[in-house]
Amino acid sequence: MIDLKSMNPEEIGAVLAQWGEPAYRGKQIFSWLSRGARSFGDMSDLPKTLRSRLEEECTLSPPRMARRQISRIDGTAKYLWELSDGNCVESVLMRYRHGNSVCVSTQAGCRMGCAFCASTISGRVRDLTPGEILDQVIYTGLDSAVPVSHIVLMGIGEPLDNLDAVLKFLELVSHPWGLNIGMRHISLSTCGLIPGIRRLGELGMQFTLSVSLHAPDSETRSRLMPVNRRYDVEDLFRACHDYFRKTGRRISFEYALIDGVNDHDWQADRIADRLRGMPGHVNLIPLNEVRESPLRPSRRMEAFQKRLERRGVAATVRRKLGSDIDASCGQLRRREAERSEHSCGFGESQT
Ligand code: SAH
Repeated sequence: MIDLKSMNPEEIGAVLAQWGEPAYRGKQIFSWLSRGARSFGDMSDLPKTLRSRLEEECTLSPPRMARRQISRIDGTAKYLWELSDGNCVESVLMRYRHGNSVCVSTQAGCRMGCAFCASTISGRVRDLTPGEILDQVIYTGLDSAVPVSHIVLMGIGEPLDNLDAVLKFLELVSHPWGLNIGMRHISLSTCGLIPGIRRLGELGMQFTLSVSLHAPDSETRSRLMPVNRRYDVEDLFRACHDYFRKTGRRISFEYALIDGVNDHDWQADRIADRLRGMPGHVNLIPLNEVRESPLRPSRRMEAFQKRLERRGVAATVRRKLGSDIDASCGQLRRREAERSEHSCGFGESQT
């Protein structure tokens, strides 16, 4: 079966050209797909014979909404989507004054193993296709009935561990014939896979790169993030400086403050020292408590922020949205896996 959802208009056109169809069909089908058409039969401006051939040879399996939670406090909506093979992933719609942002997943599960994160507890099941990442934006927007203006790749999975699919997704979602979301309205977050960061630097794309830092010293970071044993934080800082030199884009650093682990003054000073010469921005996040983990939120948010700012590093405390619904990445998928009604890609033994 052909996966047209993961193709740009030219690629769709090339498939149809082999069937003797005119090139403009690529644009027609691409724009139907971007608007969330649920079947080829719906594509009313295509000839009937073409629609039936598409139905026979191409997949078009929109995700099924397995769960939805909407925050009564701020309208944040969290979706659990069931993919065609039964795997589940999460997306979140966040409403801001500057627009509506969708947070998407890039993998079913994650193999990075961060100690504080719910998404990684059962490992990675598989990569998502570009079309499956795109579908989360399309159907979250359609269900919420609001225009989506911003995207963050901060859901389940490590985007740079599925980089080819993510790059294709970025191309599709920013295409003027599709959702047309500008690169400057997109953020991509990574736990620090240095080869991926270097590749993105070469491409010089205009989205915002977020790096999940969480500790500026090798010892603490290796404890929290096993990826640090492969790609050490000192090398990561160097890769970030190179990235800034190449792209001119300011990097944002995610930092979840954890009580007694990464919230010491000397760690704030180390961050300031390593970011010298680069206009970075540190996003301080209150740790979301994950039931399976002993880590607790820090009580030093403000002190840490002040310490960074005094040393010339821009630092903000992230506003917490959707605190009344299963908040952080992977928690909804996990809860759902624990209920027996869905297996969501987890084996029987883990439900
Ligand atoms: N794999 C990517 C993107 C997914 S996670 C990455 O690591 O950046 C999105 C962000 O949420 C990351 O910064 C991650 O470290 C953070 N995060 C995960 N679990 C969290 C928790 N329990 N509390 C606070 N932040 C968390």
